[in-house]
Amino acid sequence: MTFEAAWLRPRIRELDDALVSQIAAGEVVERPASVVRELLDNALDAGARQITLRLSAGGIRTIVVEDDGAGIARDQLALALKRHATSKIASLADLEAVATMGFRGEALAAMASVSELALCSRTADAPHAWRLQASSGEIAAAARAVGTTVEVGELFFNTPARRKFLKSEATELAHVMEAVRRHALARPDVGFAVWHDGRALASWRAAMALPGLDPADAQAARFADVLGPAFFSDSRSLQAERGPLRLWGRVGQPEAARARADLQYLFVNGRCVRDRLLAHAVRSAYEDQLHGSRQPAYALFIEIAPELVDVNVHPAKSEVRFRDGRALHQALRQAVQAVLAPSRVAAPATDGASPGGLTPVPAAATEQARPTPAPDAAPAPWQPRLALPAAAATVQEAPAFAYAPAAANAGAAWPLGRALAQIGGAFVLAENAHGLVVVDMHAAHERIVYEGLKQAADTHAALPAQPLLLPFTFSASAADIASVHAETETLLMLGLDVGVLSANTLVVRSRPAALPDADLAELTRSVLAELRLAGASRVVQQARDAVLATMACHGAVRANRRLTLAEMDALLRAMEATARSDTCNHGRPTWRLVTMKELDGLFLRGR
Ligand code: ADP
Ligand code: MG
Repeated sequence: MTFEAAWLRPRIRELDDALVSQIAAGEVVERPASVVRELLDNALDAGARQITLRLSAGGIRTIVVEDDGAGIARDQLALALKRHATSKIASLADLEAVATMGFRGEALAAMASVSELALCSRTADAPHAWRLQASSGEIAAAARAVGTTVEVGELFFNTPARRKFLKSEATELAHVMEAVRRHALARPDVGFAVWHDGRALASWRAAMALPGLDPADAQAARFADVLGPAFFSDSRSLQAERGPLRLWGRVGQPEAARARADLQYLFVNGRCVRDRLLAHAVRSAYEDQLHGSRQPAYALFIEIAPELVDVNVHPAKSEVRFRDGRALHQALRQAVQAVLAPSRVAAPATDGASPGGLTPVPAAATEQARPTPAPDAAPAPWQPRLALPAAAATVQEAPAFAYAPAAANAGAAWPLGRALAQIGGAFVLAENAHGLVVVDMHAAHERIVYEGLKQAADTHAALPAQPLLLPFTFSASAADIASVHAETETLLMLGLDVGVLSANTLVVRSRPAALPDADLAELTRSVLAELRLAGASRVVQQARDAVLATMACHGAVRANRRLTLAEMDALLRAMEATARSDTCNHGRPTWRLVTMKELDGLFLRGR
């Protein structure tokens, strides 16, 4: 080696503490919203009942967070700013059972390294507060009630590269508000106030401040405060306990789904998380009730034993890892499905609702109000007898609807009322207690047939397969190959006979008989991906449902088929008795109500 080369070789040096903190800060502090998230976590951990944020310039110039928590003693102030200094865990054993919002002990240190930070705090036994200026280390007496104020000024003033990545003040402020919303949703027992450049942006009172409210009502009030009254009225309450899990919250009606996924909140043990597995579970519960790519709105809380989940895998604490993800996926999907299943036809809109926006009712009320089908109804052909794979044919041959005799005056008592007529070869008109009911007869019957097929198919294990004359081979990833090894049986149940030919080649020998046109490579790959994410039972059910939906569409009554009044009434009664009958399998509504009030309005009556 020449002298020159040795001289050129970079030397390994230890970074000084300040630089280490700045590098680490990049993981924790990305923008004003991440500062706010960490400061809110700390305030909540300190037992705050009221938290006030004061921001300027979208939080880029200043973020001040005041709380009325336990405070920090004078001799601990400096320690709070040190890296890996925390009061929340002392041992590895604690790490397994963290109940606080996080314990990495680096948030304040990270912020202090990239901003002008000051900490002002007073404990209950102190005669006054103390204020620590992070940059100088100076501590001075200050005036303040018990609690803590953290001031973060000029974020990233000393790391211009990071500051350049900040967006407009309005955008940063929007992210800050999202962080506040997440915390506020999780903690209705704490009051939150937000000020920006002297203007009040939010003021959500603590449940305690609303006397006489029980916890469920407190949570309801917070939902309405934070997510708006529309979210509240367009959603149903969910409460479920499954094994070691407790689930609660609100799930939006399928009809109230949105173009964007901007109202989807998932909390695990009080912390808002972004988790693909959980989001997938909720989404799949809506599967055959959502139109196109519409996004459901929901705010769901999952409580799970701390040892079954790791909330500290991510520096920003927004990701989690579960010990048994599949079980959780299944529990969450089933809980959401159960809430969405009862159709709303049993409790139609009250006066004043628009025909498009039927007033939703809580799931519990729907269940109570659910009528039993007409007792003297003939055996219902709209509940198809299933004999896979001939089901489609069976359904098509059946008469459209059975005769369900009804007393002439009974119509008003039925949720969907008494049939009056059929128009345009497509719609059934009926009169109920609230006004005029219009039913899309094909859409409604399609759902009825589909739900019947699903019920019948629950007793059948496997989907029929069609052997291929020429086996189909295609290249596959290592993950896909491994999944085939693990799930051969499941694939057979789906009608897919798949084998491994080599380290990167798969062969398909049979396909699901009901899907003669599917692209086999694409079908197999997506089934395998789904199997890894959601587990075997889920995929089998999903594939089966897709096939049944196709059958249902063929089996449902066609346009221009003339129905008798009795057949129309039978259709209405079947809708009342069928789960999810408010929408067809593609998420389109099956019925609408035009209220008497709206009819009056059409004719300018009462003006
Ligand atoms: P961590 O929250 O992970 O412990 P931080 O850097 O966020 O780490 O905070 C360090 C310590 O400072 C906390 O463990 C806590 O003891 C104290 N602390 C921070 N913020 C507050 C607050 N608002 N009220 C009381 N104590 C606080
Ligand atoms: Mg913290």
